[in-house]
Amino acid sequence: MSKKDYYEILGVEREASGDEIKSSYRKLAMKYHPDRNPDDKEAEEAFKEATEAYEVLSDETKRDRYNRYGHDAMRGGQDFHQYSNVNDIFSIFGDLFGGAGGFGDIFGGGGTRRGPNSAGEPGVELRVRLPLTLEEIAAGVDKTLNIRLWTICDSCSGKGAASSSGIAQCPACRGTGEVRQISRSVFGQFVNIAPCTNCSGSGQVIKDPCKNCSGEGRVKGETTVSVKIPAGVNSGNYIPMRGKGNAGRRGGPAGDVMVIIEEKQHEYFIREDDDIIYDLHVSFPEAVLGTTIAVPTLWGEASVTLSAGTQPGHIIRLREKGVKHLNSIGKGDQHVRINVFVPKSLSSKEKALLKELADSPNIAPERLEEWRNSDINNKKGNDDKGFFDRVREAFS
Ligand SMILES: [Zn+2]
Ligand SMILES: [Zn+2]
Repeated sequence: MSKKDYYEILGVEREASGDEIKSSYRKLAMKYHPDRNPDDKEAEEAFKEATEAYEVLSDETKRDRYNRYGHDAMRGGQDFHQYSNVNDIFSIFGDLFGGAGGFGDIFGGGGTRRGPNSAGEPGVELRVRLPLTLEEIAAGVDKTLNIRLWTICDSCSGKGAASSSGIAQCPACRGTGEVRQISRSVFGQFVNIAPCTNCSGSGQVIKDPCKNCSGEGRVKGETTVSVKIPAGVNSGNYIPMRGKGNAGRRGGPAGDVMVIIEEKQHEYFIREDDDIIYDLHVSFPEAVLGTTIAVPTLWGEASVTLSAGTQPGHIIRLREKGVKHLNSIGKGDQHVRINVFVPKSLSSKEKALLKELADSPNIAPERLEEWRNSDINNKKGNDDKGFFDRVREAFS
Protein backbone atom coordinates (compact mmCIF):
# COMPACT_ATOMS: atom_id res chain seq x y z
CA MET A 1 0.00 0.00 0.00
CA SER A 2 1.21 3.47 -0.87
CA LYS A 3 2.34 5.81 1.89
CA LYS A 4 2.01 8.89 -0.29
CA ASP A 5 -0.74 11.34 0.50
CA TYR A 6 -3.86 10.45 -1.48
CA TYR A 7 -4.62 14.09 -2.21
CA GLU A 8 -1.08 14.58 -3.49
CA ILE A 9 -1.36 11.50 -5.69
CA LEU A 10 -4.50 12.82 -7.33
CA GLY A 11 -3.18 16.39 -7.34
CA VAL A 12 -6.26 17.85 -5.68
CA GLU A 13 -6.90 20.12 -2.69
CA ARG A 14 -8.09 18.61 0.58
CA GLU A 15 -11.41 20.40 0.06
CA ALA A 16 -11.80 19.02 -3.49
CA SER A 17 -15.33 18.05 -4.52
CA GLY A 18 -16.29 14.55 -5.60
CA ASP A 19 -16.36 15.69 -9.23
CA GLU A 20 -12.87 17.18 -9.00
CA ILE A 21 -11.55 13.96 -7.53
CA LYS A 22 -13.23 11.91 -10.24
CA SER A 23 -11.99 14.10 -13.07
CA SER A 24 -8.46 14.13 -11.71
CA TYR A 25 -8.47 10.36 -11.36
CA ARG A 26 -9.75 9.95 -14.91
CA LYS A 27 -6.86 11.98 -16.28
CA LEU A 28 -4.29 9.95 -14.36
CA ALA A 29 -5.94 6.67 -15.20
CA MET A 30 -5.98 7.52 -18.90
CA LYS A 31 -2.30 8.50 -18.76
CA TYR A 32 -1.08 5.48 -16.83
CA HIS A 33 -3.46 2.85 -18.14
CA PRO A 34 -1.48 -0.39 -18.63
CA ASP A 35 -2.91 -0.85 -22.11
CA ARG A 36 -1.37 2.45 -23.10
CA ASN A 37 1.90 1.70 -21.33
CA PRO A 38 2.65 -1.94 -22.07
CA ASP A 39 5.43 -3.48 -19.96
CA ASP A 40 5.91 -0.24 -18.04
CA LYS A 41 6.11 -1.17 -14.35
CA GLU A 42 6.25 2.46 -13.25
CA ALA A 43 3.08 3.36 -15.11
CA GLU A 44 1.35 0.31 -13.66
CA GLU A 45 2.37 1.36 -10.15
CA ALA A 46 1.17 4.90 -10.78
CA PHE A 47 -2.10 3.49 -12.08
CA LYS A 48 -2.60 1.34 -8.99
CA GLU A 49 -1.62 4.20 -6.70
CA ALA A 50 -4.12 6.57 -8.33
CA THR A 51 -6.84 3.94 -8.18
CA GLU A 52 -6.19 3.28 -4.51
CA ALA A 53 -6.34 7.01 -3.77
CA TYR A 54 -9.53 7.33 -5.79
CA GLU A 55 -11.12 4.36 -4.02
CA VAL A 56 -10.66 6.08 -0.66
CA LEU A 57 -11.34 9.70 -1.59
CA SER A 58 -14.43 8.93 -3.68
CA ASP A 59 -16.09 7.25 -0.71
CA GLU A 60 -17.38 9.70 1.94
CA THR A 61 -16.85 7.34 4.87
CA LYS A 62 -13.39 6.19 3.85
CA ARG A 63 -12.35 9.74 3.01
CA ASP A 64 -13.50 11.00 6.39
CA ARG A 65 -11.58 8.26 8.16
CA TYR A 66 -8.52 8.94 6.06
CA ASN A 67 -8.70 12.68 6.81
CA ARG A 68 -8.77 11.96 10.54
CA TYR A 69 -6.36 9.08 10.92
CA GLY A 70 -4.32 8.99 7.71
CA HIS A 71 -3.05 5.77 6.18
CA ASP A 72 -3.25 3.86 9.48
CA ALA A 73 -7.01 4.02 9.28
CA MET A 74 -6.89 2.25 5.96
CA ARG A 75 -4.49 -0.51 6.85
CA GLY A 76 -6.24 -3.70 7.77
CA GLY A 77 -9.61 -2.05 7.46
CA GLN A 78 -11.95 -4.83 6.54
CA ASP A 79 -13.88 -2.88 3.95
CA PHE A 80 -10.79 -1.68 2.21
CA HIS A 81 -9.78 -3.60 -0.82
CA GLN A 82 -6.19 -3.56 -1.86
CA TYR A 83 -5.62 -4.01 -5.53
CA SER A 84 -2.93 -6.50 -6.19
CA ASN A 85 -4.48 -7.53 -9.43
CA VAL A 86 -4.80 -5.14 -12.33
CA ASN A 87 -7.98 -6.85 -13.48
CA ASP A 88 -9.69 -5.78 -10.26
CA ILE A 89 -8.85 -2.22 -11.09
CA PHE A 90 -10.24 -2.65 -14.57
CA SER A 91 -13.63 -3.47 -13.20
CA ILE A 92 -13.82 -0.17 -11.34
CA PHE A 93 -12.28 1.66 -14.22
CA GLY A 94 -14.76 0.15 -16.66
CA ASP A 95 -17.72 1.21 -14.55
CA LEU A 96 -16.39 4.70 -14.11
CA PHE A 97 -15.83 5.22 -17.79
CA GLY A 98 -19.01 3.51 -18.77
CA GLY A 99 -17.06 1.32 -21.12
CA ALA A 100 -17.40 4.05 -23.66
CA GLY A 101 -15.11 6.01 -25.92
CA GLY A 102 -13.13 3.09 -27.19
CA PHE A 103 -12.60 1.64 -23.74
CA GLY A 104 -15.12 -1.02 -24.58
CA ASP A 105 -12.46 -2.93 -26.43
CA ILE A 106 -9.94 -2.63 -23.63
CA PHE A 107 -12.25 -3.97 -20.99
CA GLY A 108 -13.77 -6.72 -23.02
CA GLY A 109 -17.13 -8.22 -22.31
CA GLY A 110 -16.86 -7.85 -18.56
CA GLY A 111 -17.65 -11.42 -17.67
CA THR A 112 -19.42 -12.23 -14.46
CA ARG A 113 -17.12 -12.90 -11.58
CA ARG A 114 -18.05 -15.70 -9.31
CA GLY A 115 -18.03 -15.18 -5.57
CA PRO A 116 -15.59 -17.47 -3.73
CA ASN A 117 -18.17 -19.09 -1.45
CA SER A 118 -21.23 -19.16 -3.63
CA ALA A 119 -22.84 -22.50 -4.17
CA GLY A 120 -25.11 -21.53 -7.07
CA GLU A 121 -24.32 -20.66 -10.65
CA PRO A 122 -23.86 -16.99 -11.51
CA GLY A 123 -26.51 -15.25 -13.59
CA VAL A 124 -25.88 -15.00 -17.31
CA GLU A 125 -24.85 -11.60 -18.67
CA LEU A 126 -27.72 -9.66 -20.16
CA ARG A 127 -27.33 -7.33 -23.12
CA VAL A 128 -29.81 -4.51 -23.50
CA ARG A 129 -29.90 -2.19 -26.49
CA LEU A 130 -30.58 1.44 -25.69
CA PRO A 131 -31.53 3.66 -28.64
CA LEU A 132 -30.70 7.32 -28.02
CA THR A 133 -31.43 10.50 -29.94
CA LEU A 134 -28.58 12.74 -31.02
CA GLU A 135 -29.86 15.38 -28.58
CA GLU A 136 -29.57 12.88 -25.71
CA ILE A 137 -26.07 11.87 -26.80
CA ALA A 138 -24.97 15.49 -27.24
CA ALA A 139 -25.72 16.42 -23.64
CA GLY A 140 -25.72 13.07 -21.80
CA VAL A 141 -28.88 11.64 -20.26
CA ASP A 142 -30.19 9.59 -17.34
CA LYS A 143 -32.33 6.63 -18.39
CA THR A 144 -34.45 4.11 -16.56
CA LEU A 145 -34.74 0.73 -18.23
CA ASN A 146 -37.34 -1.93 -17.57
CA ILE A 147 -35.71 -5.30 -18.04
CA ARG A 148 -37.25 -8.78 -18.02
CA LEU A 149 -34.89 -11.21 -16.34
CA TRP A 150 -34.42 -13.85 -13.66
CA THR A 151 -35.05 -12.53 -10.16
CA ILE A 152 -34.44 -14.19 -6.80
CA CYS A 153 -37.35 -16.42 -5.70
CA ASP A 154 -39.02 -14.83 -2.67
CA SER A 155 -40.42 -18.12 -1.35
CA CYS A 156 -37.02 -19.74 -0.79
CA SER A 157 -34.80 -16.61 -0.81
CA GLY A 158 -32.94 -18.07 -3.76
CA LYS A 159 -31.89 -21.29 -2.03
CA GLY A 160 -34.09 -23.49 -4.20
CA ALA A 161 -35.21 -25.72 -1.31
CA ALA A 162 -38.59 -25.52 0.42
CA SER A 163 -37.00 -26.01 3.85
CA SER A 164 -33.56 -25.58 5.35
CA SER A 165 -33.23 -29.37 5.62
CA GLY A 166 -34.04 -29.72 1.92
CA ILE A 167 -30.43 -29.14 0.85
CA ALA A 168 -28.04 -32.06 1.04
CA GLN A 169 -24.49 -32.86 0.05
CA CYS A 170 -24.18 -34.08 -3.53
CA PRO A 171 -23.49 -37.84 -3.43
CA ALA A 172 -21.70 -37.85 -6.79
CA CYS A 173 -18.89 -35.49 -5.75
CA ARG A 174 -19.31 -35.68 -1.94
CA GLY A 175 -19.87 -31.95 -1.78
CA THR A 176 -16.67 -30.89 -3.52
CA GLY A 177 -18.41 -29.82 -6.73
CA GLU A 178 -15.64 -31.44 -8.77
CA VAL A 179 -15.07 -34.83 -10.30
CA ARG A 180 -11.70 -36.31 -11.26
CA GLN A 181 -11.41 -38.27 -14.42
CA ILE A 182 -8.36 -40.28 -15.30
CA SER A 183 -7.61 -40.73 -18.97
CA ARG A 184 -4.79 -42.71 -20.52
CA SER A 185 -3.10 -42.02 -23.81
CA VAL A 186 0.22 -42.83 -25.50
CA PHE A 187 1.68 -39.83 -23.67
CA GLY A 188 0.77 -41.21 -20.29
CA GLN A 189 -1.92 -40.76 -17.72
CA PHE A 190 -3.85 -37.53 -17.25
CA VAL A 191 -6.01 -36.42 -14.38
CA ASN A 192 -8.76 -34.16 -15.55
CA ILE A 193 -10.77 -32.16 -13.00
CA ALA A 194 -14.23 -31.11 -14.18
CA PRO A 195 -17.26 -29.59 -12.47
CA CYS A 196 -19.67 -32.21 -11.16
CA THR A 197 -22.59 -32.58 -13.56
CA ASN A 198 -24.93 -33.95 -10.91
CA CYS A 199 -24.89 -30.70 -8.90
CA SER A 200 -23.54 -28.31 -11.56
CA GLY A 201 -20.46 -27.83 -9.42
CA SER A 202 -22.34 -26.52 -6.38
CA GLY A 203 -21.64 -29.58 -4.23
CA GLN A 204 -25.25 -29.60 -3.13
CA VAL A 205 -28.45 -31.25 -4.27
CA ILE A 206 -31.97 -30.27 -3.42
CA LYS A 207 -34.14 -33.00 -1.92
CA ASP A 208 -37.15 -30.81 -1.27
CA PRO A 209 -37.41 -28.28 -4.11
CA CYS A 210 -39.23 -24.98 -3.63
CA LYS A 211 -42.61 -25.15 -5.42
CA ASN A 212 -42.53 -21.55 -6.53
CA CYS A 213 -39.29 -21.88 -8.52
CA SER A 214 -39.02 -25.67 -8.95
CA GLY A 215 -35.72 -25.62 -7.11
CA GLU A 216 -34.10 -23.03 -9.40
CA GLY A 217 -33.93 -20.37 -6.68
CA ARG A 218 -35.06 -17.79 -9.19
CA VAL A 219 -38.14 -16.88 -11.19
CA LYS A 220 -38.86 -14.85 -14.31
CA GLY A 221 -39.51 -11.28 -13.37
CA GLU A 222 -38.81 -7.65 -14.12
CA THR A 223 -36.54 -4.99 -12.76
CA THR A 224 -35.76 -1.35 -13.38
CA VAL A 225 -32.19 -0.21 -13.84
CA SER A 226 -31.12 3.42 -13.79
CA VAL A 227 -28.22 4.25 -16.04
CA LYS A 228 -26.30 7.46 -16.50
CA ILE A 229 -25.22 7.97 -20.11
CA PRO A 230 -22.25 10.31 -20.44
CA ALA A 231 -22.31 12.80 -23.31
CA GLY A 232 -20.45 11.92 -26.50
CA VAL A 233 -21.04 8.17 -26.62
CA ASN A 234 -21.18 6.29 -29.92
CA SER A 235 -23.17 3.36 -31.26
CA GLY A 236 -21.62 0.15 -29.98
CA ASN A 237 -20.30 1.66 -26.75
CA TYR A 238 -21.61 -0.18 -23.73
CA ILE A 239 -22.13 0.60 -20.09
CA PRO A 240 -21.58 -2.31 -17.71
CA MET A 241 -23.97 -2.51 -14.76
CA ARG A 242 -22.25 -4.98 -12.48
CA GLY A 243 -24.50 -7.38 -10.60
CA LYS A 244 -27.71 -5.70 -11.83
CA GLY A 245 -28.72 -8.53 -14.11
CA ASN A 246 -30.04 -12.08 -13.97
CA ALA A 247 -30.21 -13.66 -10.53
CA GLY A 248 -27.93 -16.67 -10.31
CA ARG A 249 -29.29 -20.18 -10.09
CA ARG A 250 -29.75 -21.37 -6.49
CA GLY A 251 -28.43 -18.24 -4.86
CA GLY A 252 -25.55 -17.70 -7.28
CA PRO A 253 -24.31 -14.13 -7.78
CA ALA A 254 -26.32 -11.87 -10.07
CA GLY A 255 -24.96 -11.34 -13.56
CA ASP A 256 -24.14 -8.03 -15.23
CA VAL A 257 -26.29 -5.96 -17.52
CA MET A 258 -24.50 -4.55 -20.54
CA VAL A 259 -26.31 -1.49 -21.83
CA ILE A 260 -25.37 -1.13 -25.48
CA ILE A 261 -25.74 2.31 -27.03
CA GLU A 262 -27.47 2.78 -30.35
CA GLU A 263 -27.60 6.18 -32.00
CA LYS A 264 -30.90 6.94 -33.75
CA GLN A 265 -30.57 8.69 -37.09
CA HIS A 266 -31.45 12.37 -36.84
CA GLU A 267 -34.02 13.99 -39.07
CA TYR A 268 -31.60 16.62 -40.40
CA PHE A 269 -28.31 16.57 -38.49
CA ILE A 270 -25.39 14.45 -39.65
CA ARG A 271 -22.86 13.51 -36.97
CA GLU A 272 -19.12 13.45 -37.77
CA ASP A 273 -17.37 12.46 -34.54
CA ASP A 274 -18.43 15.31 -32.24
CA ASP A 275 -19.14 17.71 -35.10
CA ILE A 276 -22.54 18.22 -36.69
CA ILE A 277 -23.19 18.92 -40.36
CA TYR A 278 -26.35 20.78 -41.25
CA ASP A 279 -27.50 21.51 -44.80
CA LEU A 280 -29.04 24.96 -45.11
CA HIS A 281 -31.04 25.70 -48.25
CA VAL A 282 -31.21 29.35 -49.22
CA SER A 283 -32.85 31.01 -52.21
CA PHE A 284 -30.82 32.36 -55.14
CA PRO A 285 -31.55 36.00 -54.13
CA GLU A 286 -30.48 35.25 -50.53
CA ALA A 287 -27.16 33.82 -51.73
CA VAL A 288 -26.62 36.78 -54.06
CA LEU A 289 -27.69 39.57 -51.72
CA GLY A 290 -26.65 38.07 -48.39
CA THR A 291 -28.92 37.48 -45.41
CA THR A 292 -29.14 36.40 -41.78
CA ILE A 293 -31.03 33.14 -41.15
CA ALA A 294 -31.95 31.20 -37.98
CA VAL A 295 -30.73 27.57 -38.00
CA PRO A 296 -31.45 24.74 -35.56
CA THR A 297 -28.60 23.35 -33.45
CA LEU A 298 -28.50 20.68 -30.76
CA TRP A 299 -28.45 23.53 -28.26
CA GLY A 300 -31.34 25.64 -29.56
CA GLU A 301 -31.55 28.12 -32.41
CA ALA A 302 -28.52 30.02 -33.70
CA SER A 303 -28.22 32.48 -36.54
CA VAL A 304 -25.86 32.48 -39.50
CA THR A 305 -25.02 35.45 -41.68
CA LEU A 306 -24.39 34.93 -45.38
CA SER A 307 -22.36 37.68 -46.98
CA ALA A 308 -23.39 38.91 -50.43
CA GLY A 309 -22.27 36.50 -53.15
CA THR A 310 -22.10 33.37 -50.99
CA GLN A 311 -21.33 30.34 -53.19
CA PRO A 312 -23.09 26.96 -52.89
CA GLY A 313 -20.99 24.54 -50.81
CA HIS A 314 -19.68 27.34 -48.61
CA ILE A 315 -19.44 26.24 -44.97
CA ILE A 316 -20.13 28.41 -41.94
CA ARG A 317 -18.79 27.08 -38.66
CA LEU A 318 -20.75 27.49 -35.43
CA ARG A 319 -18.27 26.84 -32.65
CA GLU A 320 -19.21 24.65 -29.68
CA LYS A 321 -22.61 23.75 -31.11
CA GLY A 322 -21.80 20.07 -31.60
CA VAL A 323 -21.73 17.03 -29.32
CA LYS A 324 -20.01 17.27 -25.93
CA HIS A 325 -16.67 15.45 -25.90
CA LEU A 326 -16.62 12.20 -23.98
CA ASN A 327 -14.32 12.40 -20.95
CA SER A 328 -13.00 15.84 -21.78
CA ILE A 329 -14.16 19.42 -21.71
CA GLY A 330 -15.78 21.21 -24.63
CA LYS A 331 -17.97 20.37 -27.58
CA GLY A 332 -17.63 19.80 -31.29
CA ASP A 333 -18.76 22.41 -33.84
CA GLN A 334 -21.72 22.63 -36.15
CA HIS A 335 -20.90 23.13 -39.82
CA VAL A 336 -23.63 24.83 -41.80
CA ARG A 337 -23.30 23.87 -45.46
CA ILE A 338 -24.91 26.35 -47.85
CA ASN A 339 -27.07 24.97 -50.65
CA VAL A 340 -28.85 27.16 -53.16
CA PHE A 341 -32.43 26.15 -53.80
CA VAL A 342 -33.28 25.86 -57.48
CA PRO A 343 -37.05 25.97 -58.05
CA LYS A 344 -38.58 23.39 -60.38
CA SER A 345 -41.85 25.08 -61.25
CA LEU A 346 -42.41 28.77 -61.87
CA SER A 347 -45.34 31.00 -62.75
CA SER A 348 -45.25 32.75 -66.12
CA LYS A 349 -44.54 36.05 -64.38
CA GLU A 350 -41.58 34.56 -62.50
CA LYS A 351 -40.31 33.04 -65.74
CA ALA A 352 -40.51 36.37 -67.49
CA LEU A 353 -38.63 38.10 -64.67
CA LEU A 354 -35.90 35.44 -64.70
CA LYS A 355 -35.51 35.63 -68.49
CA GLU A 356 -35.10 39.36 -68.27
CA LEU A 357 -32.55 38.89 -65.51
CA ALA A 358 -30.72 36.18 -67.45
CA ASP A 359 -29.63 38.67 -70.15
CA SER A 360 -28.39 41.13 -67.57
CA PRO A 361 -24.56 41.61 -67.77
CA ASN A 362 -23.70 40.38 -64.24
CA ILE A 363 -25.77 37.23 -64.55
CA ALA A 364 -24.72 36.11 -68.03
CA PRO A 365 -22.28 33.20 -68.49
CA GLU A 366 -19.56 35.53 -69.89
CA ARG A 367 -19.15 36.81 -66.38
CA LEU A 368 -18.66 33.26 -65.15
CA GLU A 369 -15.96 32.73 -67.79
CA GLU A 370 -14.29 35.92 -66.67
CA TRP A 371 -14.45 34.83 -63.07
CA ARG A 372 -12.81 31.49 -63.90
CA ASN A 373 -10.05 33.13 -65.92
CA SER A 374 -9.21 35.49 -63.12
CA ASP A 375 -7.45 32.60 -61.43
CA ILE A 376 -3.73 33.38 -61.61
CA ASN A 377 -2.68 29.77 -62.22
CA ASN A 378 -5.36 29.04 -64.75
CA LYS A 379 -3.86 29.18 -68.22
CA LYS A 380 -6.58 27.33 -70.10
CA GLY A 381 -8.86 29.31 -72.38
CA ASN A 382 -6.60 32.31 -72.07
CA ASP A 383 -5.13 33.89 -75.20
CA ASP A 384 -2.19 35.25 -73.29
CA LYS A 385 0.58 32.83 -72.46
CA GLY A 386 0.73 31.81 -68.85
CA PHE A 387 3.34 33.12 -66.47
CA PHE A 388 5.35 29.87 -66.41
CA ASP A 389 5.24 29.57 -70.22
CA ARG A 390 6.79 33.00 -70.51
CA VAL A 391 9.49 32.13 -67.99
CA ARG A 392 10.32 28.95 -69.92
CA GLU A 393 10.49 30.87 -73.21
CA ALA A 394 12.86 33.42 -71.74
CA PHE A 395 15.37 30.71 -70.82
CA SER A 396 15.22 28.63 -73.97
ZN1 LIG B 1 -38.01 -20.84 -4.68
ZN1 LIG C 1 -21.82 -32.93 -7.23
